[in-house]
Amino acid sequence: MHSGVKLELIDELREQGITDERVLNAMLKVPREEFMPESVRSHAYENVALPIGFGQTISQPYTVAFMTQALNVQPGDKILEIGTGSGYQAAVLAELGGEVYTIERSLDLYNRTFKLLDKFDYKIRMKYGDGTLGWKDESPFDKIIVTAGSPKIPRTLVEQLKTGGRMVIPVGDKSGQKMIVIDKTEEGEKIYEYSGFRFVPLIGREGWNEE
Ligand code: SAM
Repeated sequence: MHSGVKLELIDELREQGITDERVLNAMLKVPREEFMPESVRSHAYENVALPIGFGQTISQPYTVAFMTQALNVQPGDKILEIGTGSGYQAAVLAELGGEVYTIERSLDLYNRTFKLLDKFDYKIRMKYGDGTLGWKDESPFDKIIVTAGSPKIPRTLVEQLKTGGRMVIPVGDKSGQKMIVIDKTEEGEKIYEYSGFRFVPLIGREGWNEE
């Protein structure tokens, strides 16, 4: 049985235009409260981003749903996520049958989330480092998802995407970004844009400089 607040959140996401029932079902299954500190758990099923410590956030459920739907995950897809954060987005991708590789640049978050993900049976591998450089040894990927705001599309990540693959990444300045969906095809890259997102910065060699 799913609690009322959880079902209400799923209904709200549906009203906001999330139509992929597989995505909504995966979000119904993954316990979001377990991916956040005790202090904010009572807000786990509100449609808001929440602080997870170390100056970082767990993304708003609408944003997770939008990006996951845009990624069009198929069972068995090899997926690279940049910005593990709490591990929640990675868990939703794994719940959809993805084989997830995720990179985090904060050592504190990496250590905490590594221990947390060990409690679940999800197919998720984690790495500590600058995700803008990708995960060359495991490339190419069917899908790539970047969950921090980037000033540009990191070319290294496009190179590590399969032909026929898709990448979803927020691109813009630090005050707001467009969600960019890139389909890598034999004929080149097809790009779609959706406005109205705001992420913490992607910091790294092909992202923002550290201040
Ligand atoms: N996907 C996360 C979740 O489900 O909780 C939310 C991610 S949070 C909005 C963005 C994360 O990206 C932060 O944890 C931040 O430390 C990380 N980050 C920023 N730049 C990065 C980089 N170059 N490589 C890897 N992680 C990065």
